[in-house]
Amino acid sequence: MNLRYYPHTLELRHAFTIATASRTTTPAMIVEVEHEGVIGYGEAAMPPYLGESQATAATFLDRIDLTRVADPFHLEEILPTIDALAPGNTAAKAAVDIALHDWIGKKLGAPWHRIWGLDPARAPVTSFTIGIDTPEIVRAKTHEAAPYKIIKVKLGRDAATDRQLIETIREVSDRPITVDANQGWRDRAEALRMIEWLAPRGVVFIEQPMPKEQPEDTAWLREHSPLPLIADESVQRLADVRRADGVFDGINIKLMKCTGLREAHKMITLARALDLKVMLGCMTETSCAISAAAQLSPLVDWADLDGALLIKNDLFSGTTIVDGKITLNDRPGLGLVKL
Ligand code: MG
Repeated sequence: MNLRYYPHTLELRHAFTIATASRTTTPAMIVEVEHEGVIGYGEAAMPPYLGESQATAATFLDRIDLTRVADPFHLEEILPTIDALAPGNTAAKAAVDIALHDWIGKKLGAPWHRIWGLDPARAPVTSFTIGIDTPEIVRAKTHEAAPYKIIKVKLGRDAATDRQLIETIREVSDRPITVDANQGWRDRAEALRMIEWLAPRGVVFIEQPMPKEQPEDTAWLREHSPLPLIADESVQRLADVRRADGVFDGINIKLMKCTGLREAHKMITLARALDLKVMLGCMTETSCAISAAAQLSPLVDWADLDGALLIKNDLFSGTTIVDGKITLNDRPGLGLVKL
């Protein structure tokens, strides 16, 4: 099996602003694995704050030798070997995991949601993110997001700015809102006051309200919060899931931080055993990585898989969003067509 890769810089439709940064592009790396005439596609999407880059991905991918793999179906052998090559590099690892899954599904002639025994009708709606911006642009973005049933906002700046964003959206829409504070609230009593203000305004849950270094404060907040708390930055990989028990009500799983579909599937299983809610999230990504995550979506409570909708230069078509709902197709593997 051969592995090749090339960089692709994702151009965002709108500047993307979270509590700590703003940017207009996301570096990505596209991976292709080819064997017996079949090509599997994968992707690493690497927002800079997570520490990976096209250069680090290239360095890591150069260390992978799939030419000695006797059987690409042996993911339980191949993926731990790749994971052990170096710490971190989770997006680069995910790119290879995704490409191998695409290849296997194509060889089997079946989409992964079918291989996993999932009913595509159970795929959830996806939220659509509206970034922090001027009231005029927020109103315009809310109108632009009309097809999506749930609006996601990034809070975690000062309370007045956060409240203004919610009130601006509520001027033009009564759709449910999910809130991602991106660790922005450092004082638990202030965080609780904000959540109590948000709860009667149609907010569904709060993602990562406090810094990951404050699990005790987060557990206190969860005891008092009228809304569920979902871990994002606090839970990266399978081994982190148990740390959410008693601290959060659920976890947000992203392929780029958990090394791909194999581990994501295991994380969902463990989260369910711990009675945790599960959300599937993404970075800004092409339809390659989004379609990969979408294969798992019938298993989860909430999905935030709008990443491909936020870019101008997708390289694939795959899973689509129809009337706000994640809509899986019957094409084998991840259901991708290269554009
Ligand atoms: Mg988040």
